Amino acid sequence: MRILVLGAGFGGLELSTQLSEQFGEEIEVVLIDQSGGFVFGFSKLDIMFGRKAPSEVFHPYRDINKPGLRFVQSAIRSIDPAAKRVETDAGPFDADILVVALGADLDPPATPGLLEGGHEFYTIPGAFALRAVLEDFEGGNVIVAVTSTPFKCPPAPSETALLLHDYLTGRGIRDQSTIALVMPLGLPIPPSPAASEALLAAFGDRGISWHPEKLVRGLDPDRKVALLSDGSEMPYDLFLGVPVHRAPAVVAQSGLTVDGWIPVNPLTLETAHSDVYAIGDVTSVGTPKAGVFAEGQASVAAGQIAARLRAGSTPPTYDGQGTCYLEFGHDMVARVTVTFLSGAPPVGALEGPSQEIAADKSEFGTSRIQRWFDRSWAS
Ligand SMILES: Cc1cc2nc3c(=O)[nH]c(=O)nc-3n(C[C@H](O)[C@H](O)[C@H](O)COP(=O)(O)OP(=O)(O)OC[C@H]3O[C@@H](n4cnc5c(N)ncnc54)[C@H](O)[C@@H]3O)c2cc1C
Repeated sequence: MRILVLGAGFGGLELSTQLSEQFGEEIEVVLIDQSGGFVFGFSKLDIMFGRKAPSEVFHPYRDINKPGLRFVQSAIRSIDPAAKRVETDAGPFDADILVVALGADLDPPATPGLLEGGHEFYTIPGAFALRAVLEDFEGGNVIVAVTSTPFKCPPAPSETALLLHDYLTGRGIRDQSTIALVMPLGLPIPPSPAASEALLAAFGDRGISWHPEKLVRGLDPDRKVALLSDGSEMPYDLFLGVPVHRAPAVVAQSGLTVDGWIPVNPLTLETAHSDVYAIGDVTSVGTPKAGVFAEGQASVAAGQIAARLRAGSTPPTYDGQGTCYLEFGHDMVARVTVTFLSGAPPVGALEGPSQEIAADKSEFGTSRIQRWFDRSWAS
């Protein structure tokens, strides 16, 4: 029995770990990713704002050493969901059960002017390069903006604006700067009125201007203005953007997507093809695109697969619950827990912000690295 897991991100790592824990050498799990290692989404902000060194946040896949689990570093070139066969640069792989966990790709060139006149902070190279850009920044108008929907980790632009305030204050150039946050949503975190209210209050206290229900469609680098979806313009000296997201091309070409993402049974994470599952950002399951939701889906898909392999066990079903950590700046973090697929409208309770929850967030990262890579990490 061979299970092919495509993508070693949040979802693929968790699913492979659970299958190895439950079945060890009884089954063969092959985990394929083109990258050499894993980086948490939140580590991108740590690098950008100089809180960590790049080498501290990169977790090499060569450290994975679990019974029954083999990691293959290779680009996946095609997926045949009917045959459960993939072509990679390392040759073809056939599977009995296939799990697609290839995340969302980012497409900075899709936003006119973004690369020529601004910066994006969602890719690893983009966020890492911003560290030097911020160090050289001498003050001026900064825009943090989203360019399209859907986008990963909806709280991340708000966190970026708050951390930027601390960063510019620390450098003594906050007085010479403005910070504007342009978001497509009506509230910073629509499913959590309490978290939204706390964030809006934090923006107000720090003089961050909030521009809801708008996107930045492009930049005019010559005039140094951002072009907004409502036809207005905003001048900028430094532009930090969330680029366009799309399913990886190999997924789109496989025929698995509908309207850009893979539809799945929301209870089981199965696709329209038998024995083919999809988890995480690559799906349109109905939760936000975030690591905590990819992890919850991985857990349910692993349980479904386990029940298939061990007759008699009851498979778990997915309810879309996740707990997100929210950086408020001043070394304080809050926590929001939301359940998206219970049938009732999702409402997220807010805890914090506090330094205790900041320590919990650190433990969240540390515990994942311990589980997935069997080594300690001070996140
Ligand atoms: C700035 C920022 C902050 C964030 N903060 C948080 C946070 O605090 N909490 C949270 O829960 N989430 C956060 N996120 C979101 C989180 O990073 C993602 O939602 C999460 O990683 C999705 O997991 P996934 O397994 O679906 O995909 P990913 O983790 O993106 O993994 C997909 C994998 O597939 C691989 N891949 C893609 N195409 C191919 C191919 N053709 N061949 C081989 N391999 C391929 C990629 O290399 C990648 O490793 C943040 C994101 C950003 C950008």
